[in-house]
Amino acid sequence: MSVSQSVYFDPAAETMSQDQIKDLQNRKLKEIVSYVCKNNAVYREMYREAGIDPDNFAGLSDVDKLPIISKETFRKTYPLGLLCRDKSELREMHMSSGSTGTPVVMPYTINDLNQWADCMARCYRMAGAYPGDPVQITPSFGLFNGGFGMFHGARMAELFIIPTGSGNTERQIRLAKDFGTKVLTAVVSYGIRIIEIMEKMKIDLPELKAGLFGAETLTDAMTDQIRNGLGIDVFNIYGMTETGGVGTLGCDCADHSGIHVWEDQYYLEILDPKTRKPLPDGELGELAVTSLTREALPVIRFKTGDLTRIISREKCACGRTHLKIAHISGRTDDMLIIKGVNFFPTQVEQALLEIPGVHPHYQIIIEEHAGVKDIRVNVEAEEGVTGYMVEKHLKERLGFSPKGDIFKPGTLPRQEGKAVRVFKN
Ligand code: ADP
Ligand code: ZN
Repeated sequence: MSVSQSVYFDPAAETMSQDQIKDLQNRKLKEIVSYVCKNNAVYREMYREAGIDPDNFAGLSDVDKLPIISKETFRKTYPLGLLCRDKSELREMHMSSGSTGTPVVMPYTINDLNQWADCMARCYRMAGAYPGDPVQITPSFGLFNGGFGMFHGARMAELFIIPTGSGNTERQIRLAKDFGTKVLTAVVSYGIRIIEIMEKMKIDLPELKAGLFGAETLTDAMTDQIRNGLGIDVFNIYGMTETGGVGTLGCDCADHSGIHVWEDQYYLEILDPKTRKPLPDGELGELAVTSLTREALPVIRFKTGDLTRIISREKCACGRTHLKIAHISGRTDDMLIIKGVNFFPTQVEQALLEIPGVHPHYQIIIEEHAGVKDIRVNVEAEEGVTGYMVEKHLKERLGFSPKGDIFKPGTLPRQEGKAVRVFKN
């Protein structure tokens, strides 16, 4: 087997032992702490106040002494207050899609672009993409990092790029057919849209083998819908603007036993959302990320808002040694509290899709009457599914009973990019 046909894009990096990973992380963490203090006034001041001596920082054993940063840190320093390089060295920027309304800017040096491409190329290979394979990139090309991230990675992985960008689903499907797309990349909800239009067009895509889906929570129920609807293997790709974009954190492998996170590039902690203290492996909490190798704007202990847990640090059946986290179950700022019950929109999705005949298009409407919150769920379903059936199932699964309204398939609005599911009346 030639190197380019290895099942790993970067065999040495992807299979290094956990001891090697820990040594590397320890060294890189010390370097990055000293680097940000040397090159950025905001970090310098923050660390001075926290009593950190950047030149004598102990490394991993003292990581919990470092201040935690958040989207708020980015907002306060907008646009480039956290920059660690001269502006003349910047080659690209991206900005968050604004799901939470806060502009987060990520600038890149040439080395940062290569680091992003490298992480993303590892993800492509993990999903079975080899040089020359046609890859169709359906996320938008623009400030949103999705399109360009998939592009930079596909260049590095030497794939044949079909850069459709978002929209015009009929044309996407025709192109996929005409050019034999083997790997599809998409925002999760767009995968469902493609299936819907393919059925209308009566076209199937036998050459399509795998899809990398991200930017939104991929529930098990949604994974099944996409896997069956497209007849492909579904990979959950993870990253965010602050870590350098899509795929920077990692992807699940063909074993589908969790998302591998590139530990030679990122150090992860799972924090108790209330106390902000690190939690042991296996416990669900908020993911905090430290980027160990980025130049223009490294994040150190960035509280992501995403909820997950560490599943395993053992060598995986795929041979990779990098730890695995559970699929993101929601964001701390997504949590809804209705009549004293806490839940995430994704739990509603999972419960809805368990009902036979229900389609993956739904809205959660929050209504407030005289200070009391209630929810209503609008969902598309085939004939025979009733509002009562939806209410009964949600009551069983969530512990309270929202009103369920059934809509004919194809009648609820569709969105491009990240789907908006929750509406306030
Ligand atoms: P915004 O925070 O404005 O949505 P981004 O475009 O950077 O900006 O989106 C990153 C966020 O998208 C992550 O923090 C996470 O909440 C979500 N996300 C990205 N990939 C996934 C995934 N595979 N599963 C679940 N959520 C994801
Ligand atoms: Zn694996």
